[in-house]
Amino acid sequence: MNKTATRSTWLLCPGCREMLYGRSFERAAKVCPHCGHHARLSAPERLAHLLDPESMRVLDFEIPDADPLSFTDTVPYPERLRAARDRTGLEEAVICARGTIGGHPVVVAAMDFRFFGGSLGSAVGEAITLAAEAALRERTPLVMVTASGGARMQEGVLSLMQMAKTSQAIAQLDEAGILTVTVVTDPTFGGVAASFATLADVIVAEPGARLGFAGPRVIERTIRQSLPEGFQTAEFLLEHGIVDVIRPREELPGTLADLLAVAARQARQGEQGGQDQGPAPVTDPADLPERNSWEAVRAARDLGRPSTLDYIALLTTGFVELHGDRRGADCPALVGGLGYLDDIPVVLIGTQKGHTAAELNARNYGMPTPAGYRKAARLMRLAAKLGLPVVTLIDTAGAYPGLEAERDGAAVAIAENLRLMAGLPVPTVAVVTGEGGSGGALALAVANRVLICANAVYSVISPEGCAAILWDDPSAAPRAAEALRVDARRLLELGAIDAVVPEPGTGAQTDHRAAAAALRGALTGTLRGLMPMDAMNLVLDRHARFRRFGAAPAGIAEGQESAAERRYAERGRGEWNRA
Ligand SMILES: [Zn+2]
Repeated sequence: MNKTATRSTWLLCPGCREMLYGRSFERAAKVCPHCGHHARLSAPERLAHLLDPESMRVLDFEIPDADPLSFTDTVPYPERLRAARDRTGLEEAVICARGTIGGHPVVVAAMDFRFFGGSLGSAVGEAITLAAEAALRERTPLVMVTASGGARMQEGVLSLMQMAKTSQAIAQLDEAGILTVTVVTDPTFGGVAASFATLADVIVAEPGARLGFAGPRVIERTIRQSLPEGFQTAEFLLEHGIVDVIRPREELPGTLADLLAVAARQARQGEQGGQDQGPAPVTDPADLPERNSWEAVRAARDLGRPSTLDYIALLTTGFVELHGDRRGADCPALVGGLGYLDDIPVVLIGTQKGHTAAELNARNYGMPTPAGYRKAARLMRLAAKLGLPVVTLIDTAGAYPGLEAERDGAAVAIAENLRLMAGLPVPTVAVVTGEGGSGGALALAVANRVLICANAVYSVISPEGCAAILWDDPSAAPRAAEALRVDARRLLELGAIDAVVPEPGTGAQTDHRAAAAALRGALTGTLRGLMPMDAMNLVLDRHARFRRFGAAPAGIAEGQESAAERRYAERGRGEWNRA
């Protein structure tokens, strides 16, 4: 249907069969006001929708016309190409352009499904690669809007080669620390899904957009498996850890602008110093009251205490939560994303409990699965790639114990995070905000500075668990808590933590705003202290911080800076995005 006809006429929504007036449908960027169905946009419509008005400059690449196989089915391939060009007014199935989104420079490659089903021929692969190379040269983030049925049969194995070529181009952007984002639109399949589309740092999808390697008909035909409702939709893929974010079309420019702002590491104007910083953190145990460890345990478990998502809402601006481990799961007990903490762009990660039984249940009681730790690892590697500080907020009884967790490698996921965090080339600050439970907490706490909220606890085992094993009596938990020295003052004395964040009144649960203010002051102050350090010194500082536990005092004064450590600290940024 051509554009002029659409505008002045009525049409039928393919989602709900309601009549839509063409002109208002166009104004709503082709989203049905009744059912939210997102109709396909052409590449020119997409670029006009995403890019700031007047900012678009089409990248006019010189790409040779190719018919490498002299391919003919019922009609010769060149003839089909000519027909597609006449029908769409496009040269090929992608348009690349430079422009701005929310004022941030970007290179965008937008695919067009109308042209050969958005298939990945040599010209499309070449245009995507040239766009990535332009982004690399100019150090500008790359946004790829995908819509494709897969490889282009008419170009045979040379179409397949485009998957390898475009993936290489994305890898170069990883090495250079340049943000890549995919906007998945319906449908994105085959060779495009299995190359550049899913290699991006952030995968944003439109509601209902389908993405997959093999199409559902192929699956059903080949292995005769019946597929669940909603299979391969954005919603299904979000739940299974492949897609980071789902955004309705009208919110896409805003979300992309938020991501681009953080990736540009631009200090946000007007935020600094304007916020309440709360009382300063305490670093001398003598400045803290003596307290009973068991009381601290009970205070730390108060369900009214601010959760990680509460702190994110109170402390950050422009925050975009990212989901999934890209391997098959999204753990609800671990949340994270990119945003601004005051004026500092950060990656913030934390365990998430909740305040009610329903929330706790939905969040797996704040106990991350291996997929949760792998999501955290993915976000930390992204922070390393983009040069962003990492902040972790920890409130967990521990890693989720269970059959699936063991099967999926709970121990391995935790161990890998300890090693990953030890070597991150960016400033890292961890805060135990409630319960710091064992290895499941430490897997987020190998940081340059480790803070604890005044009523939080940090322990190798729950007092109940310790009492059951060593006292053979679970009711001995208060005695076990005392013996384990799990409260903030004792932890500061032991050197396990570096500073204590004061809490308002009788605890953070009494005033979330005041609790957040104290945390804001502690975090921004600590980060500002670390940010001038280079990657090598950050790694060495962290190494020294954890090397000292159990070492003889004389043994740790020298010999920290081995050649191996230096090499580790100086690894290319690109290596952080692969693991
Ligand atoms: Zn509809």
